[in-house]
Amino acid sequence: MGKVRRVYTRCPMCRYVFRAPRAGTYVTVGREPDLCPKFPGRQVDGSRVIQSEVTMCPACSFAAREDFDGLDLSPTERHGLEERLKDDGLLRVFRASPTPWLAFHAAEVCGQERAAPSRGLGDLCLRASWVCRKEKEHPFESTFQLRAVRYFLRALEEEGLHGRELSVTTYLVGELNRRLGNHREALNWYVNAGRTIEGDESLAWLDRLITQQSKLAKEQAA
Ligand SMILES: [Zn+2]
Repeated sequence: MGKVRRVYTRCPMCRYVFRAPRAGTYVTVGREPDLCPKFPGRQVDGSRVIQSEVTMCPACSFAAREDFDGLDLSPTERHGLEERLKDDGLLRVFRASPTPWLAFHAAEVCGQERAAPSRGLGDLCLRASWVCRKEKEHPFESTFQLRAVRYFLRALEEEGLHGRELSVTTYLVGELNRRLGNHREALNWYVNAGRTIEGDESLAWLDRLITQQSKLAKEQAA
């Protein structure tokens, strides 16, 4: 299992300096069907590696997937973010003792305020759902899966995805629906995802996954 180091970071919002976790090199042993990486060893260690992909300031809760050093926020942006973070219900409840998924939620809130693309916001929520699963926080796992589906649907509608991103996003809408118990819906999206692949050799792995998960959804729907 790779070590998670801590490096000094300055918050681009409030200038607070703190030590943020950064994952070193680590090995994975395949992926679950919702593409969650599997790590050897304890689930919580894997959760920590995924968590280290998002940085959250412990003082003001500003969070992002990007490196804080490369972020430059305008005064207007900063003001908008301040208001959003102050008013957010979940942050108000959990700020004092952060849950493992809180940084993802904060990054989602900040991403919305900074008008980040829906595909990326969906990815954040998907990662949050992986952390929840590894930490056995099942109600929150479903909450984040549902949010990921909504963002992915918006991305498919509005962001002109193509190639691998289009196929993977379409597949994930199916797989997350299956996990949420919407088996018929899942089957439709697996079919849509299969259509986007059209003999692309580099996506043969996804084609196999679609076949495997469709079979599972059919059994579950019966
Ligand atoms: Zn801060």
